Amino acid sequence: MVSNMLEKDEDRDAAEDASSGCTIPSVIPPEIAGRYNLTRDPDVERDVSRYVEIESGNTVTNVEKIKTEYVLGDSYDIWDVTTDDGQWWVISNLLNLYSKNLFPSLDYTLSFHIGLMMRMRSKPNGPDAENPDPFDEVARRREQAEAAYERAIEAVHYQAVGMQLRECLISLSTALRRRMEVIIEGEAPQEANFKGWMDLMINQLCPGDANKELRQFLKTTSDKTWSLVNWLTHDRNANQTAASIALHACDMVFGHSIQILVRDRTDNVEECAQCTSRNIRSHYDAGILPDGDYYTTCGSCGWTSHPDGAERHDK
Ligand SMILES: [Zn+2]
Repeated sequence: MVSNMLEKDEDRDAAEDASSGCTIPSVIPPEIAGRYNLTRDPDVERDVSRYVEIESGNTVTNVEKIKTEYVLGDSYDIWDVTTDDGQWWVISNLLNLYSKNLFPSLDYTLSFHIGLMMRMRSKPNGPDAENPDPFDEVARRREQAEAAYERAIEAVHYQAVGMQLRECLISLSTALRRRMEVIIEGEAPQEANFKGWMDLMINQLCPGDANKELRQFLKTTSDKTWSLVNWLTHDRNANQTAASIALHACDMVFGHSIQILVRDRTDNVEECAQCTSRNIRSHYDAGILPDGDYYTTCGSCGWTSHPDGAERHDK
């Protein structure tokens, strides 16, 4: 009823304006508005559309990237998405959608999203029975070391933290070995020879002159952490500060080891065939014959590895 009255008012206003030579344009439908957006990125927009359609069950009529925000070293892409039944904010990394009815303010939505992602990442990553991981044992021993640290009062208790951390480092070298094929020339180090195994693996994961500084840093930190933990185990004056530093030193060694193990995936080593930018994104198209395939696009110049090329968006 109200909307009918408004429409009539608008019609009358429009008619009056038309007669005076001044026409107030009506709202452009979202599916048409998108055509006038100058910074289109069709492959990413399609990924976002498909995500919203799966999650909301509605048909997407327009996707528009609003901006990219950088917070604490992470980037978050933000899209404004219109469907045939409601509007959404979609924020990346990890992709999530928020109804504009419930989240009218974009700033608030972004803060909420970043908080949610941080909580997800800091969830206790202890053993997960459904997804066993070679690093589960490392995580379990790390948690036991922390629990021992929190309850410790006497020197022997802090020494016990050192013992847990020692086992933890040995588990780490075992877990790393399960994730890669270690090339052994000559005699293999003994099972508990943490330093020996780490030297072999770091040489292999960080080869050549280009990696010299990184390799030396990783070897030195793992070697010194091993010494520190062993010293703590035997120190008759072991105390809270020493145990805390040993715990954090181990965390650093775990973090670096895992990072170096997966560096191929995180370093974006793939380059654009056209402009050599490393801004390469991966997409999936179920329409690629015979039964769907992944393809990549360049975020800098628009190059695509899709068999139909970039022209397919102009159809
Ligand atoms: Zn490019």
